Parts: sequence; C-alpha cells; structure tokens
Amino acid sequence: MSSRFPAIVAPGEGRPATLVSLTDAELPDAPITVEIAYSSLNYKDGLAVTGSTRVVRRTPMVCGIDLAGVVVTSRSAEWDPGDEVIATGWGLSEIHPGGYTTRQRLQPEWLVRLPAQMQPKSAMAFGTAGLTAMLCLLALEREGCTPERGGSVVVTGAAGGVGSVAVALLAQAGYRVVASTGRRELTDYLVGLGAQEVIGRDELVGSATTPLAPERFVGAIDTVGGTTLAAAIAQMHYGGVVAACGLAGGSDLPASVFPFILRGVTLAGVDSVHCPTSQREVAWDRLARDVPGATLEAISEVHPMTEVPDLARAVLAGAIRGRIVIDPHV
Ligand code: NDP
Repeated sequence: MSSRFPAIVAPGEGRPATLVSLTDAELPDAPITVEIAYSSLNYKDGLAVTGSTRVVRRTPMVCGIDLAGVVVTSRSAEWDPGDEVIATGWGLSEIHPGGYTTRQRLQPEWLVRLPAQMQPKSAMAFGTAGLTAMLCLLALEREGCTPERGGSVVVTGAAGGVGSVAVALLAQAGYRVVASTGRRELTDYLVGLGAQEVIGRDELVGSATTPLAPERFVGAIDTVGGTTLAAAIAQMHYGGVVAACGLAGGSDLPASVFPFILRGVTLAGVDSVHCPTSQREVAWDRLARDVPGATLEAISEVHPMTEVPDLARAVLAGAIRGRIVIDPHV
C-alpha cells in the first residue's frame, strides 16, 4: 500500500482544491482504513472545493464530505476487513480528511453499515443530501405530518440534491408534493419524481405578502432558507410542520412569530453532520427500502473525480440537477 493514489486536496488560504497524488504516509492515523468505491457532490463540497467559505478548517485537506467503500484494515472490534460502510459528515472535509480519494483512514464511530440491499454507488447517489432528505421526512412524521393527514407538502430547491430526493421520498410515502423551483424547465423531471404540482420559487415567495398568508401547505422541506423559508412558514396550515435543513438562498429568516403562536406551526431543524448513529441507521434503512432503483437512476449521474473542480462551481451556481456520484478511480 505504498503506491501513490489520487485525491482532491484544498491547499488553504481560500485557494481552490486541485487533483494531487498522495501516499499512505499522508493519511491520518485512525483505526479503520477504507478502500473508497464512490463519493458524491453536495453543496458543501462546492464551498470546500472552490475555497469560497471557511468549510475547510485544516489544510491541506482532502475534500469530500461523503464516502462509501469497504474496510481493508481495522484496529477496532466493531469493524472487520470486508465490511461495506458509509461515512458522511462528522467533519469530513472540514477537520478530517474526506472522500475525494481512493483510500482513507477513519474513526470507527463515523461508519454506518451499508444496508444489505444497497450498493456503494446507490449509497453515494443518496449521500449526505439523501440522508438529509430522509431526516427531514422523519422529522415531519415525528411531528405528526403524515400522508393520512392530507394536504400538500412543499419542497423548496426541489431540483437540487436534497430537494430531488425529498420529492421522491415524499411522493413514494404517499404525500401530495408541491415542488418549488427556480428552474421551471425541469418540470418534467420533478413530475417524474412524483411532484403533483410544480411552482416557481418567485411564486412561493410572492404569495406570502404577510407573515400570516393564506393556508396552503401542511408541511415543508426547505433547503433554501431566507425569504423562501419565511414564505413556507407563512403559508402553513394550522399545525403544519416545516423541516429546515438548508441555506442555498440565504441564512437569514425574515419571519414573524405569528404562524407559531396562532397556527401552532412547528419548525424542525435538521442536521446530518453530527446526527447520532442510531438515527442514521434508521434513515439509511428507510432509504434502502423506500426508493426504487429506477428513481435513484433518474436522480443521479456518475462523474469522474477529475471533474470535481468544475462540478463544484456548478453546484454553487445552482446548476446541478439532482445528485452527482463521484468515481475516484478515474
Ligand atoms: P444543491 O445545490 O444540489 O441544491 C440547492 C438548490 O437550491 C438548487 O438546486 C436550487 O433549486 C436552489 N437554490 C440555489 N440557489 C438559490 C437561491 N439563491 N435562491 C433560491 N433557491 C436557490 O444543494 P444540496 O441539495 O446539496 O443542499 C441544499 C442546501 O441544504 C444547502 O444549503 C446545503 O448546505 C444544505 N444542506 C444541509 C444539510 C444539513 O445537515 N442541514 C445537509 C445537506 C445539505 P432549484 O433549481 O430547484 O430552484
């Protein structure tokens, strides 16, 4: 294992990450070595690879917040060589080297067993985005927003990674899904994933002229934040539930307390980075069980790791449709 292998590495000082080669000696000293089959591209990867914000807090840093592969060596009783695993979040690509390479060393507690009926490529077609979408769905269910209740659930940033998986998951579970997008040209794609109505992001925001706008949705999965999240909150039915996970449109929240105190609306925050392993296991099992292979095929495409710098710029520009799987072996 002394040969060189490729990696996308951020050099620091806000400079963009580039393709370099590493040796085992440059990997961290951690108990588990994983041979990586696939990684993926998320919004946060776009930030890290372009050097846009302080996602990367130690340099040089192997980027990539997600990975799936097989354990090759283990100094932990929990994992054996040959185990197929997923790692997402936990500071990968921020303070710990991540998945844009073919080999990585990791802590045992960061790993989740690959569900029996899932392939590593499918796991990365979900990646952090899919895990987050499922955590949002679980939050809606936990707060009583179930398909039996009737009414519509709006997904914002619907054509993005989290949004696409959320649309598919909600539709598969039996919800009536309204997809909000800035790319109306992707209407056929969103309808194909199960959306029953596709609306423009401006229409969603424009309909909320007051903090307590006409009741329209029983639930929301919001990946956008800012005025979009505020508009979704303002248009909730009595007892509605909003799962907030993203900030693609802004990190502020220009809303009022009225929907919360007059309509009993619940705002559920969703974090996938430090989410406990027990919740991750539930979410990954549900992803494996609930999303048909054909749907996952429609959402995702595979790209070689050499394209990561270009793809990172595209994801920040909101130009990526669905999910990108990264093949580090090419
Ligand atoms: P993507 O870039 O794949 O999707 C984001 C989508 O948001 C875009 O496709 C676009 O959807 C919409 N969008 C982009 N820019 C704007 C804008 N200026 N105004 C309104 N809408 C916009 O990103 P991901 O799906 O990977 O991530 C989405 C968000 O969720 C990010 O903010 C990310 O940081 C966050 N996130 C949070 C996690 C957590 O643990 N809480 C985990 C994963 C992601 P459309 O074209 O349909 O309008």
